[in-house]
Amino acid sequence: MSFDATGDGSAQPISLPVLSAELVADVQDGPKRTTSLYGRRTPLAEPDVQLAALDAVPLALGPTGTGSFHADLAASGWPGGLRPAPLEIVQVNVGKLCNMTCRHCHVDSGPDRTTENMDREAVDACLGAIDRILAHPDCALHTVDLTGGAPELNPHFEYLVDECVARGLHVIDRCNLTILTVRRYRHLPEWFAERGVEVACSLPHYRELGTDAQRGEGTYAKSLKALRALNDAGYGQSDPERVLTLVTNPVGSFLAGNQASLEDEWKAALARNHGVSFDRLLALNNMPMSRYLEWLIEKGQLETYMERLLGAFNPGAIDGVMCRNTVSVGWDGRVYDCDFNQQLEMDAAVPFEHVADFDLDAWQARAVRTARHCYGCTAGAGSSCGGATA
Ligand code: SF4
Ligand code: SF4
Repeated sequence: MSFDATGDGSAQPISLPVLSAELVADVQDGPKRTTSLYGRRTPLAEPDVQLAALDAVPLALGPTGTGSFHADLAASGWPGGLRPAPLEIVQVNVGKLCNMTCRHCHVDSGPDRTTENMDREAVDACLGAIDRILAHPDCALHTVDLTGGAPELNPHFEYLVDECVARGLHVIDRCNLTILTVRRYRHLPEWFAERGVEVACSLPHYRELGTDAQRGEGTYAKSLKALRALNDAGYGQSDPERVLTLVTNPVGSFLAGNQASLEDEWKAALARNHGVSFDRLLALNNMPMSRYLEWLIEKGQLETYMERLLGAFNPGAIDGVMCRNTVSVGWDGRVYDCDFNQQLEMDAAVPFEHVADFDLDAWQARAVRTARHCYGCTAGAGSSCGGATA
């Protein structure tokens, strides 16, 4: 097997190590690139249908054997359900538009999601909420986390980044890498570097097979091209002002592997095979929702996967789940406990709906809304936007 590292046919092929039979089998059986549920008008595009599909799975595992996340939380020392920790992160999902249609996508993003994009009014409402949080005596906010879709496609993206940087906040761009190879966005690695933006890039696997299977043919070549551009801009060299994070998720129906050992493996493989470096790896579980849920159902794997999640339920992973220290804002300005609850349209249990009315005291007094998809966050070493939680 060989690989043209430039992606444009100009380089000599580089030999890759022989793939393990296990990886090949996982990938051949794993999720493949698809189209959006929304575009296909499938019933599973509806959040209620997704939640009902999860509730219908017979589950007798976990601490209580009931398949109730709330009951399992209670049995694990959280009798009133999940309660907030100090709010440290504002995560803004600026839209569902994406240049890719990955099979595991929990947002159901794609090129056809053109209407769900945050407008300038909602962007300014986010900034207004951030200003109120920063002025609050109990403020613990330090980070604004921008996600999508491909967040760079939002026309107000650079404005929002600049405004957050001007407020002294750490900014994370959740980037799919391939967008950085599109002519209009090729300036971004340098642009990010000038502002100290952390770039958290999704890449299913450090090998071509696993990545292209899930994200589409040619994705791996473009991803490497983008990684080189980020390295050239100073990313991935242990500079705290130019942090390059890679985010991986399993290419199949199994749980994320050990983050620390995977990071060592990924760093060695990408350096050896392509001369590419990065700073840290986050290993996330796939959430049983949206397009990944569809794949699990199609493959007859839903019950097995849910049993895996419950069988690996880890009370030690609860404390660090992202809903506890994050507010998630949707493209239309509505607020949620996390990006997963956002996609399932589970509004946060607060006396306001829109970020324009965000009130930190009310936010901190809420109970987090949970359901069976939450088992994806508490399995194994735990899984959040910041990686393993235990
Ligand atoms: S790149 Fe990210 S947002 Fe876009 S389809 Fe893939 S998983 Fe979804
Ligand atoms: S899915 Fe959201 S609400 Fe549920 S545990 Fe994970 S972060 Fe919290």
